[in-house]
Amino acid sequence: IQGLQWHSVILLLFLKLHQMPELINLSLLLTFSGPDGEKTWPKKYPFCGGVFQSPIDFHNDILQYDTTLLPLELVGYNVSSTDHFMLTNNGHSVRMSLFPTMHIRNLPFQYTATQLHLHWGNRNKPEGSEHTVSGRHFAAELHIVHYNSDKYPDVTAAIDKSDGLAVLAILIEVRCMSCAFSIVALVPGFDIQELLPDQLDEYYRYEGSLTTPPCYPSVLWTVFRHPVKVSEEQLLALETALYCTQPNDPAPLEMVNNFRHIQKFDERLVSVSFRQEEDFLNVLQEVSSRVGQNPGVLAPDFFEPLDNISALSIK
Ligand SMILES: [Zn+2]
Repeated sequence: IQGLQWHSVILLLFLKLHQMPELINLSLLLTFSGPDGEKTWPKKYPFCGGVFQSPIDFHNDILQYDTTLLPLELVGYNVSSTDHFMLTNNGHSVRMSLFPTMHIRNLPFQYTATQLHLHWGNRNKPEGSEHTVSGRHFAAELHIVHYNSDKYPDVTAAIDKSDGLAVLAILIEVRCMSCAFSIVALVPGFDIQELLPDQLDEYYRYEGSLTTPPCYPSVLWTVFRHPVKVSEEQLLALETALYCTQPNDPAPLEMVNNFRHIQKFDERLVSVSFRQEEDFLNVLQEVSSRVGQNPGVLAPDFFEPLDNISALSIK
């Protein structure tokens, strides 16, 4: 079902863009590489060279297990098919407006959804996630942007405030399997929660920034530990369907590689809601010493991927 929903989002973006080329706005074109690439952002947007920048790499040295991090409670994410999402192209990504009835409940404030968008790579190098895990990129990354609706009237008021935004980030992995095309999936409203991984209790949490100019350090980031999977065909459809220029332009500029590179993360820690590998290995060593097994033989299977960890728990 998750694959089908992903398919519907990607097809929706594709079809809507081709139906509405007037939405493509060159004046907002933002380039992530080349002479006007992200290295030049701080000249015009000082925050981009400032503190608390995102994205970052999640590696063991900076992760800190935090038992107070609860599973996220998402309210109103299941949108009726009689409601319609509005799609716009801002020159560096395609965003889908969300409804103010959608919000996250159990953060320090109530955060209301405003839009979602994707970051991706290109067809030759489908490594376009912004956040990385132990240096590893994922194929793409979905961002669901929310603003602090307890304190601010709208996203514009919240965007430059330190407690203004909360973004849910979903890492997307490519699954080498084709997914059957289904026209039935092209429905306007759908359950946004289907875009999220099943486990909403395992995530990385830190305070960071917008990943595009003006890079305000206003984002409470939640990056889910488990990626969702899309097929290569779905990803290719996304990467090749979207152009920064008009579709009839003789030299269309493809909208690819719209991800920011990882930022320095000095003297800060990322809170994690799940136990790390070392913790698990300690438990494993304890258990295996009791049953007389060598954990070194078992360990490699546990490190990557960790998806099967629950299957391996002691019964
Ligand atoms: Zn984003």
